[in-house]
Amino acid sequence: MSSTRVLVLNSGSSSVKYQLLDMRGGSRLAVGLVERIGEETSRLKHTPTGGAAREWTGAIADHDAALKAVSEELARDGLGLDSPELAAIGHRVVHGGLHFTEPTVIDDAVLAEIERLVPVAPLHNPANLTGIRTASALRPDLPQVAVFDTAFHTTMPESAARYAIDVRTADEYRIRRYGFHGTSHAYVSRATAELLGKHPSEVNVIVLHLGNGASASAVEGGRCVDTSMGLTPLEGLVMGTRSGDMDPAVIFHLMRVGGMSTDEIDTLLNKKSGLVGLCGDNDMREIRRRIDEGDEQAKLAFDIYIHRLRKYIGAYYAVLGRVDAVAFTAGVGENASPVREAAVAGLEALGLAVDGELNAVRSDEPRLISPESARVAVAVVPTDEELEIATQTYALVKGSQNLT
Ligand code: AMP
Repeated sequence: MSSTRVLVLNSGSSSVKYQLLDMRGGSRLAVGLVERIGEETSRLKHTPTGGAAREWTGAIADHDAALKAVSEELARDGLGLDSPELAAIGHRVVHGGLHFTEPTVIDDAVLAEIERLVPVAPLHNPANLTGIRTASALRPDLPQVAVFDTAFHTTMPESAARYAIDVRTADEYRIRRYGFHGTSHAYVSRATAELLGKHPSEVNVIVLHLGNGASASAVEGGRCVDTSMGLTPLEGLVMGTRSGDMDPAVIFHLMRVGGMSTDEIDTLLNKKSGLVGLCGDNDMREIRRRIDEGDEQAKLAFDIYIHRLRKYIGAYYAVLGRVDAVAFTAGVGENASPVREAAVAGLEALGLAVDGELNAVRSDEPRLISPESARVAVAVVPTDEELEIATQTYALVKGSQNLT
């Protein structure tokens, strides 16, 4: 029996998201989520394709118990992890530093390197490591593959990746711009080229991944040449709860004048800033509803969000020189037509425009929303990070790049 299935695991500190895909065609067999691991009220939601969702609440002590519970749910659908049809497990790993430029089969040396990167990704890499160790213990015979959020951005030139700070200090502490959401930027830039009927090497794309976390990238002929997130996912665009770009001296000011601790400022900038800090809401649907009711605070939050987005579109236009497409993706990018409209409004001189009717269409398919006459295509391209992780994992273990 040929093994064509890939399990994709995205392990957080208290959660595991998973999808089982069949790589003959890239179809999804099951999706699910375990939340609140370590609490009394852990929750597992499992949905087999074509079947009804099953939910379960109770104590799941740790990641090991979570994965065993997932395995049992899959087994109920005849998709158990002991199946010979399972070819590999693909793990999302947030930080791969400069070392990992490609998906990588995990061994002890790879684990040690991911561990070495914990200081630059203290929230994510430890949870990713737990997921890897747990899955390896469950199926030690199976290839476990790490797919890194940073890998797509390792092609950035030094001029884009380095901060203008003392070089020795930067090198000693590995301070540079790594970028994140790489799996999404890779998938969406490729899918945009496909939508245009071109090979990725022929097109320059600005990808706007606008979810609760948000980042932009400039992709030249399939290679990332700049991206808005930096050493951590805090830099760049205004996000749901993160500030994005800011004068770093704000931090000294808050310490010296506000008497705030490092942890307090970290929480302020990562969890209490961005849209939520500006208006109390981080859901774009709610912000638009409030704007429609005449809420000035929500309007200002929206305007600040859009202003930053437009600055990045302009910046990446200049970085690329020639732009073939601007692609919107993730929760906000795929759904919020007012954001897309405002992001390119008045930029006809750059060849950018949105057709009102096309922009209003709701669909899960990649689509163009620019008028036919526009010089630059504006597209909505739903992202699929799990499919990308599964595709990269499967290509690596099967030794071919073209299997889906
Ligand atoms: P993500 O992180 O990609 O899952 O995106 C989540 C965000 O997408 C939410 O916080 C909302 O702001 C936004 N979002 C999701 N659905 C919609 C929608 N129908 N209209 C506007 N914004 C949406």
